[in-house]
Amino acid sequence: MSILQILAPFDGWCGTLDEVPDPVFAGRMLGDGVAIDPTTGILVAPCAGEIVALPASAHAVSIRTAQGIDVLVHIGVDTVQLGGRGFDARVRPGASVRAGDELIRFDLDVVARGAKSLMTPILVTPMDGLRLQQRRAPGLVSSGEVLFEIAGVETRTPPPRAANAPKEEAAAGHTLIVTLRHGLHARPAALLAQRAKAFGAQASLSAHGRTANARSVVAIMALGVRQGDELSIQASGADAQQSVASLVAGIQEALRMESAAGQGAAPDSSRTASDSSKSASTIAPRSTPAAGVLGGVIAVPGIAVGRATRIERREIAVAEHGADSGRERAELEQARINVRMRLERVAATGGATRREIIAAHLEFLDDPQVNEAAHELIAAGKSAGFAWRTAIRRSISALQALKDSRLRERVDDLLDVESHVLLALAGEARPMNIPLPERAVLVADDLLPSELTALDRARLVAICLSGGGATSHVAILAAAMDIPMLVGLGSGIRDIADGATVIVDADAGTLQTAPAAPAIEQARAAVESRLMRRAKTLAEAQIECRALDGTRVEVFANLGNVTDAAVAVAHGAEGCGLLRTEFLFIDRETAPTEAEQLAAYQDIAVALGPRPMILRLMDVGGDKPLRYLPLPAEDNPALGLRGVRTALAHPDLMRTQLRAALRVRPAGNVRLLIPMITDAAEILAVRGVIDELEAEIGIADRVELGAMIETPAAALMASGLIREVDFLSIGSNDLTQYTLAMDRGHPELAGRTDALHPAVLKLVAAAAGAGAAAGKMVAVCGGVAADRLAVPLLLGLGVRELSVVPAAVPAIKRQIRSLRINDCRELALRCLDLASPGEVRAQAAEMLESLGDMQ
Ligand code: PEP
Ligand code: MG
Repeated sequence: MSILQILAPFDGWCGTLDEVPDPVFAGRMLGDGVAIDPTTGILVAPCAGEIVALPASAHAVSIRTAQGIDVLVHIGVDTVQLGGRGFDARVRPGASVRAGDELIRFDLDVVARGAKSLMTPILVTPMDGLRLQQRRAPGLVSSGEVLFEIAGVETRTPPPRAANAPKEEAAAGHTLIVTLRHGLHARPAALLAQRAKAFGAQASLSAHGRTANARSVVAIMALGVRQGDELSIQASGADAQQSVASLVAGIQEALRMESAAGQGAAPDSSRTASDSSKSASTIAPRSTPAAGVLGGVIAVPGIAVGRATRIERREIAVAEHGADSGRERAELEQARINVRMRLERVAATGGATRREIIAAHLEFLDDPQVNEAAHELIAAGKSAGFAWRTAIRRSISALQALKDSRLRERVDDLLDVESHVLLALAGEARPMNIPLPERAVLVADDLLPSELTALDRARLVAICLSGGGATSHVAILAAAMDIPMLVGLGSGIRDIADGATVIVDADAGTLQTAPAAPAIEQARAAVESRLMRRAKTLAEAQIECRALDGTRVEVFANLGNVTDAAVAVAHGAEGCGLLRTEFLFIDRETAPTEAEQLAAYQDIAVALGPRPMILRLMDVGGDKPLRYLPLPAEDNPALGLRGVRTALAHPDLMRTQLRAALRVRPAGNVRLLIPMITDAAEILAVRGVIDELEAEIGIADRVELGAMIETPAAALMASGLIREVDFLSIGSNDLTQYTLAMDRGHPELAGRTDALHPAVLKLVAAAAGAGAAAGKMVAVCGGVAADRLAVPLLLGLGVRELSVVPAAVPAIKRQIRSLRINDCRELALRCLDLASPGEVRAQAAEMLESLGDMQ
């Protein structure tokens, strides 16, 4: 046969490739063919053959004919970004199909709304000596009619293809210089791997002459990419271009996260400078240690006196050879499933830090490089346990060979995952409770994250490791648990007798291994007074907050989940000033249902007890895209469809959330807050929907509604906006970014994106003034509310509610109690006319110092 006919895969308008708004297709970079604007949503096979590519997103399909010719149908342009929404694959890769067989169904409306264009190229990829003839003239075409013929078919030999290897339909690449301060460490690696997994294309990263599978966190870390290194991103497959673009965007996202986490915070920590009062530090000991004193690196500051305690770590023996490779493979898979379920259970009960660390462990558990290596070893006759251990150890060796200590610190995480799986293979699980004697100072060479969480927290007073790193996950966990910790103490700690009394001074970076009685007494007194000071601040935090002159100021907490709520209550928060509900919406394949949302909000309301809960409607879109929401790509997401704009563009999503929020009990405690407002019409549109839903549900008392002041427009229009709402809440993070035209995540502008810029203060003054005139509450829920230099200024401008990270509540309350509103007002008025945020900070510092508040 010398001619092959390619048929229309659906009804529509047939045109040329020039009409496809994508240079890859229009420029014939992938091959030649025609394009159809479809009028039906059923795609049938344009020829007989085998399905060689059909990504999970089902937006494209590639068929290889018996003659080895590949025909690609790519539904619309930029449709990969829909993440499968609106598409339904009716066949699987590898299936044999006849011309006219149904391959994909798609919802024309959904796809049309989310795609740049519906113009669908039908291509021969690549042309390699083939010729197209009898091309159909532009006009209407019906499914099954001939689109073109391929001549020269007999000269073609099918390209060799490894079993299951995806077809390379397109290639794309990009080279960049990595500017991340700590290079591609664990967190950016995980971010990139997740992005790579969202595409059908095979993507790889190359640096230093080595190449890594972009879906493997372990492989990416093992590249050892550091700041200033050149990184090349390559992808092949139908959505190669999009995959590369997404990986480049991933690096930018990592940069934003890095700068948001602050200069001093540990890069792999889930804690950010603004979200925690503590941070793992890498401060070296201050002085050369004397005899009987070991010097180490401070991982978590603090002081403790206790007994040196060692815990046993059991070696898990594994047989080298396996019985039957099929069974070994199945056992490994089952063990991984068991470990996954167990880790997910543990994550659900822990705080944010533990959840993030477990998320990293789950990445390692599913890492394609580790799993492929284990499967190869099983195929070569090894047991599941031996294969898993060997695969993990290979990755560990690769990390240990790197110069970067931050990457070497991930070795503990891999060892943790190794032992979880080996124990699961043996039908066991890690002990959840490791007993300790009273006032135990754990002394060890190293400690795994899961070992730390299994230790009896009530008896553990400090951790001292001969090795380890200050930014390891175990150090981050210890910081979250508030346990003083020293690392890098050297082999000297092996000489400490079990049960010996030691003094850990993790403020100075020293461990006294044989302290004399007076030193022990002194250290105990220091621990005691520290505990008392902390207990006093915490106890006072439970009391309603008033300034020195009696003015009531509410101190609320910003929350993301129920664990935060419990921490907030324990720290004396008087309510939730900002529930960031978007965390429920992002990082999932489908939107949360009304029942799921109601359950999540209700749990938080229960944890808050009688305290108010200000629930912010989802602030998604922009730089917080949703996989299930067809949002077009935006050149400037911060200025695009986000906040209330996204909600109004997707009324179903908004209605579901509102219905869930309105059903939370007790109803009177819930207030709603609308993000990213620019004018009153947006508020009225949301209020209209709320009114409708309240009538539908049978709610008589209107829910209180607030508007966020995050744009200069909203601040300047505040006196009009406040007529339509019950309160205003100033989002200083965004207000600063939009006022100063500086991206809040830009690393080089981080030092200048200061909410105490007089221009921002003037906008805060406008909003607070509008609130005062209307007799309505104006709050600040952005990061500036927890900045001690900002507190007197905000109060002076008229703000009467501050909402801060839960751990900051006690200190903010203590500070407010020392302030007189009149002094604050004078300070604020002076500062409005200053020339720079630096001058404002200097004035505020001077005032606080005069009050003896040196902190
Ligand atoms: C803000 O912009 O200050 C704010 C509180 O909202 P988010 O930080 O969630 O954007
Ligand atoms: Mg905001």
